[in-house]
Amino acid sequence: MAAEGARLEAKVRTEYRELAARSYLARCDNPRLPFRWTINPYRGCEFGCKYCYARYTHEFMELRDPLEFEHKIFAKSFDPAQFRREILRLPVGESVAIGTATDPYQPAESRFRVTRRMLEVLATCAGLRLGITTKSDLAPRDTDVLQEISRRQYLTIAQTITTLDRDLARLLEPLAPRPDLRLGAVRKLSGAGIRVIVFCAPVLPAINDSRVSLDSLAREAAAAGAAGFGANVLFLKPSAQQVFLPFLEERFPALVRRYREHFGRGAYLRGAYPDAIRARVREIRSRYWPKSSAPAEPELWPRDDQMELFV
Ligand code: SF4
Repeated sequence: MAAEGARLEAKVRTEYRELAARSYLARCDNPRLPFRWTINPYRGCEFGCKYCYARYTHEFMELRDPLEFEHKIFAKSFDPAQFRREILRLPVGESVAIGTATDPYQPAESRFRVTRRMLEVLATCAGLRLGITTKSDLAPRDTDVLQEISRRQYLTIAQTITTLDRDLARLLEPLAPRPDLRLGAVRKLSGAGIRVIVFCAPVLPAINDSRVSLDSLAREAAAAGAAGFGANVLFLKPSAQQVFLPFLEERFPALVRRYREHFGRGAYLRGAYPDAIRARVREIRSRYWPKSSAPAEPELWPRDDQMELFV
């Protein structure tokens, strides 16, 4: 009977491949986004969020089935010397976002540690504004290196949590860690002196956008030591619609007509709805973070005159 174990092979859900990287930094000229450079250690993301906006990035590799984004994961081959050269070319104060198209702490990171190795290089440089966005609870693994980075760069970790409702989170983000585990990561990171904010992204109309839902999330984030709270309204590009709309039909059929109407006009919602969510989030934020304080300058931030001397 035990010989039937061979069928386990059929349960392998994810295929990992190495991806040669010509460069690690990609320039971002989108004026809507608050950073100039992006770094994505992986292509594809196993968390499989139903609304994931990044599925289209697999199309660049001729992978057109949007579900392949979850099942075919590419880990970038990592050359620390080249990465360091790219980082050192950036001027002081440049903004770099890690994890804009895929999660840098997705399950593959436990095996391949590309993110960790990049952070180790960043911990030897100074003068950048770094953001790391993740839905994982794995970032505290790197507390030592994140603390060192915080001495040299402005570092903010954006821990994404869309809802405190475990069942809803499991539906929306099937393989991402539970919301309470992500809050635990916020607690550990902030307790270690690392700046972390909680980000509700995306806000999905009529699913996780109620005042109660956003307010309770912000309250728990503040209690866990988060330095701030933000949110972004859902946007759905065509490749994301291919996965999200069938999901809605199955799980939230009463919403399908309205979603089709609104997102049939374009990937982004405009007008009253996003304005109302922004106002709601501002009001909630001001309740739990009444004083907005700028982050302190890192201890080893390069001084302009030092740079002049060095050049
Ligand atoms: S964690 Fe981010 S990149 Fe990964 S599936 Fe979810 S939305 Fe996509």
